[in-house]
Amino acid sequence: MEIKGGYTKKILNIDLTKGKSVVTDVDDEFALKYIGGRGWGAKIVLDNLMKHPDLKPLGPENVIVIAPGPLSGLYLPASGKNSFISISPLTGIYGDSSMGGLFGVELRQAGYDALVIKGKADALSMICIDDGDIEIRSASAYEGKTSSDTERAVKEDLGDIETRVAVIGPAGENLVKFACINTEWSRNAGRTGMGAIFGSKNLKAVAVRGSHDLPVYDMDALINAGDRAFDYLKSHDLFELWQQQGLMSVIDYINTAGAMPTHNFNDAHFDGADTINGDTMLKYKIGDTACFCCPMSCGNICLVKEGKYAGTVTEGPEYETACMFGSNVGVTDFTAILRANMLCDDLGIDTISTGNLIAVLIDGYEQGILNRDDLDGMTLKWGDGDSVHELIEKIAYRKGIGNIVADGTYGLIKHFPDLKNIISHTKGLEMTAYDARIGVTMALGYGTSDIGAHHTRAWPLAKEIELGSNWTLDERVDLVIYHQTVRPLFDCLGVCRLPWIELGLDEHIYAELFAAATGVPLTLEDMFERSSHIYDLTRTINVKLGVRRKDDYPSERAFTTPIKTGPHAGELLDREYFESALTMYYEKRGWDENGVPTTFTA
Ligand code: SF4
Repeated sequence: MEIKGGYTKKILNIDLTKGKSVVTDVDDEFALKYIGGRGWGAKIVLDNLMKHPDLKPLGPENVIVIAPGPLSGLYLPASGKNSFISISPLTGIYGDSSMGGLFGVELRQAGYDALVIKGKADALSMICIDDGDIEIRSASAYEGKTSSDTERAVKEDLGDIETRVAVIGPAGENLVKFACINTEWSRNAGRTGMGAIFGSKNLKAVAVRGSHDLPVYDMDALINAGDRAFDYLKSHDLFELWQQQGLMSVIDYINTAGAMPTHNFNDAHFDGADTINGDTMLKYKIGDTACFCCPMSCGNICLVKEGKYAGTVTEGPEYETACMFGSNVGVTDFTAILRANMLCDDLGIDTISTGNLIAVLIDGYEQGILNRDDLDGMTLKWGDGDSVHELIEKIAYRKGIGNIVADGTYGLIKHFPDLKNIISHTKGLEMTAYDARIGVTMALGYGTSDIGAHHTRAWPLAKEIELGSNWTLDERVDLVIYHQTVRPLFDCLGVCRLPWIELGLDEHIYAELFAAATGVPLTLEDMFERSSHIYDLTRTINVKLGVRRKDDYPSERAFTTPIKTGPHAGELLDREYFESALTMYYEKRGWDENGVPTTFTA
C-alpha cells in the first residue's frame, strides 16, 4: 500500500552527545505497520533495546521518541495529541505518556513525524527546530526555572511567541522519577517519568517552529468526515457540560458509584465529594483552554481570589488531580487542590504519582510505619493542604523525605519496606484514581497495562458499574482487550480519545479520516490488528526487561483490604476470579501462561 498523504515520512534524529542531527526517511511499510505516535515510538524503543540490552533508563543510550501521529494537526476534532515514548526511569519498563496542545502539530509542520533524541549533552541544553534548521543551544539561563517561566523565557529569547516549547521544570532537572514534560503552561506528559529522561540528557527544552502545510490526500473527504464529527460532538447532550467542567464532571459519578480513591485508597467513597466536584470548580473558573482543533475545550483556568492561597492561578485540576489532592489525602478545601495543581505544573511533576505517594506518607504516619524523624519533623494528617504543598516542593527539589519519594514506589519501598502493603501500584507505576476492587475488569486493566497502573489503556469502569454481576468472565476479558486495542490507537493516530470515550463519537470515523488523509483505505479492523500487534510489541519490550505473570496484578491490598464505605462497602477483589481472568486474558492474546507473547518476533 502506498502512502499518498498524511505523513511527512521524516524522522529527525538528534544525538546530544555528539551534538549532531540527521533526518531519516520512513518507508511506507514501517509507517503503516506501526501507524505513528506511540506505535512508531515503541518500535524505535524496542530496536534500541536490542542494540543496548543493558541500557539504564537515565543513561545516554536510552532514547526518547517524541511522536504525534498521522492525523495530528488535521481538520478533525481534538487532533493535537503527541506521545513521548521511552524506557521509564520510574518503572524500569516500557513507558509512554501523551500530551495535548500544539507542540506535536508544530513538529509535523516543521516536517517531521517524529523526533528521536539520544545521548547526553555536556551541559544544560535546548533543541531549537525551525523547519530544517536544527540547533542545540545552551539552556544555562533557564537552569532551575519553573516550567511556565522556562516556556515564557524561551519564547522571549527566540523572539517568537508562536514557537511551541516542551520543557521540564526543576523536578526534571533533579531526575525525580515521575517528572513530567510540560507545554503551553499546563499541558503535561505526566506519567512514567518522561521529564526525568529529558533531565538525564541535560535537555531543558525543545522549541519548534514549522511553516509547512500538512499533506492530505483527499481534502474534500477529510473536511466532510471532520465536519460530521464536529457536528456530532456539538449536538451531544453532554457537550455543554463537558465544555463547562471537562473531566471534573465525573467526580460525582465516580463517587456515587463507589470507586473514588479516598484516604490512600483505603476507601472508595468520599463524604466531602461536593467540596471538590465540578460545581465547586466553577466558582473559581475564569476561562477555558483547548488543545488543537478541539471543540470540547476541557481545560478549566481557575483563579483563587481570596484566602491564604489567593493569587493561585492554574489550568485544572481535572478528575485525577482533584482526587489525588482531594479525597485521597482527605482535603476538602478546593483552593488547596488548585494550589497543589499549580505547584506540580510549575515544578514539573506528575500529579497522580505525587498525590498517590503523599497519601501513602500520611497513611504510613497514621499507622505508625513512619515517624516524625522519617518525615523531617512533619506531623502529617488527612486534610492538611499546607503539608501536601510542602511535600510537593520537597519531592521536586529532592529535599529530606522528598528525596526518597522522588524515586517513586520502588524507591519508597526500598527505604521503608513496611510501606509495601499500603502502596497502590502495578509494575511500579502509582495507580490512578479508580478503585480496582469494584470489578475484575478494572483490576485486569491495571494489571496488564503495558506501562503499569494507569487507565490510559483500559477504562472498563463504566461497563462494570452498568452491568454489575450481569456479565460473564469471557465478556469482561474481551472488553479489557478491546479497550487496550482501541484506546492506544488514539495515541498512534495522534488524536485525543475523549470525543470517543466521553461523548461516544463512532470510532469508525477515524478509519475514514485516516483514508482521507493518507490515501490508504485501512478499515477499523485493520487498525485494530496493528494496535494489537503494537501491544504485543510493548509486552515484548517488558518481557525483555523481566516482566512476567507475577507483575500483572493490582496491589496485593486489593485482595486483602475491603472497601470501608459507600455502595461497595465490604467488597474486595476475589483472587481466584482474578487468576481465571488473567489466564483467560493470556489465552485470548496468544501469550503463554507466564504472559510471554508466543507469536511476536522482535
Ligand atoms: S478533550 Fe480536552 S484533552 Fe482532549 S483534545 Fe480536547 S481539550 Fe485536549
